[in-house]
Amino acid sequence: MATDAKRLKTEGSDPLQSFLQWCEGVGLKLNNKVYISNEGTVAEYGMLAKEDIDEGELLFTIPRMALLHQGTTKVLAVLEEGKASLENTSGWVPLLLALMYEYTSPQSHWRPYLSLWSDFTALDHPMFWSKDERDRLLKGTGIPEAVDTDLTNIQKEYKDIVLPFITLHPDLWDPERHTLDLYRSLVAFVMAYSFQEPLDEEDEDEKDPNPPMMVPIADMLNHVSNHNANLEYTPECLKMVSVRSIRKGEEVFNTYGQMANWQLLHMYGFAEPYQSNSNDTADIPMSNVYKAAVQVTRSEAEQRLLVEKWSLLCEMEMVGDKGVFIFGKSGSLTDTEMYTTLKILCMSVEEFEDFRENEGWEEADDDEEKMLQALSNEGLPSLPPLWRHLVHAAARFTLDSYGEDMLKDKVLLEDKDGYAKLSSRQRRALQVRYGQKTILHQLLELTK
Ligand code: SAM
Repeated sequence: MATDAKRLKTEGSDPLQSFLQWCEGVGLKLNNKVYISNEGTVAEYGMLAKEDIDEGELLFTIPRMALLHQGTTKVLAVLEEGKASLENTSGWVPLLLALMYEYTSPQSHWRPYLSLWSDFTALDHPMFWSKDERDRLLKGTGIPEAVDTDLTNIQKEYKDIVLPFITLHPDLWDPERHTLDLYRSLVAFVMAYSFQEPLDEEDEDEKDPNPPMMVPIADMLNHVSNHNANLEYTPECLKMVSVRSIRKGEEVFNTYGQMANWQLLHMYGFAEPYQSNSNDTADIPMSNVYKAAVQVTRSEAEQRLLVEKWSLLCEMEMVGDKGVFIFGKSGSLTDTEMYTTLKILCMSVEEFEDFRENEGWEEADDDEEKMLQALSNEGLPSLPPLWRHLVHAAARFTLDSYGEDMLKDKVLLEDKDGYAKLSSRQRRALQVRYGQKTILHQLLELTK
């Protein structure tokens, strides 16, 4: 989203050329079949194919020493020394402190890389929109709540952790320069440009996720769900490899992960056009399923039973106050939680007593495969009537929570002239809203 004008000129030379020279110097190797350009890409800089590329071809390699993170920054020693005071829930603070230093230091080893961003005014995540704009354009999408939480956390983290730390090191940072505004911009930069190395499978349940890091060149690739390249991690280097053939002139697209449009807008500031995001999802707040279940109770006894059922579901960690059930284009993506919730909510008193006494039902007939199938688009119409009713009513409550109704959004999307007159924020918000509403509407149809 950054415009060329906004990219800092590195004394007398083109910032991209200086960056590419720096890349050569640090041992980053680019296949001759690809090049970086800001023409012919979906969003400013991106990578294009100069020649046909086969599946499995190596597009570039980045030696680990060329990655920018807490272990490679000049301020490594102080970060290491202050480790205990820098711990926070996100694990982003050390990288953000490193970036604050490297971004503003004229002698930084990373200068040719970071000079690609003269300032961060081109980042247009919803966290930079006014609260009113977010609440109006994105009501119901889950983004306004996520951004409110981010903004509170950023402010708290800066005040409680970052500011005390930088004040202790006046030789490296200056609170007048390394302000909360810069910190917020760098958070957005890290959100949209950093990479997180996946944990080995055996560590997944035990270890905290790896901290984020900046990966020069790899972060110039744009994303689509139907991507054609993927980043691989080896002990010596990171490798971008094509995952299918790419024709000459086509853009090389990485994947930022399986991202729904609301996640893309929240974390990266863009959304894929309606229909093209195969990973799009819609959330149904768990509280809406509860609300639907309350509606079908006919007596105080039934209401008491419902409360007991819900507490048990909470104890089983199937539902939670702010939890959501997630639906993708092909059905439920949280099938264990959704299936267990529907099953328990629809039990008779006797079944529920029995279930509680036996601390669960015999799992044999409720394996993962069965739950997945039952809550897929193919399975949903055959759910028992009360199960279907609960999903239907919860989807309806969720649809009603959006600001604009679905038909109005549809008309706007299909009206070329009207759409062209919308601001970029209005367009991106519309793509997110309409994608979610389509999934919810499909759910209504499948459960009526
Ligand atoms: N295009 C970026 C640039 O010129 O700096 C390089 C990619 S950077 C990792 C991620 C940013 O690129 C996102 O925050 C978004 O602004 C943009 N982007 C990536 N994929 C996109 C897409 N499919 N459509 C629109 N913008 C995209």
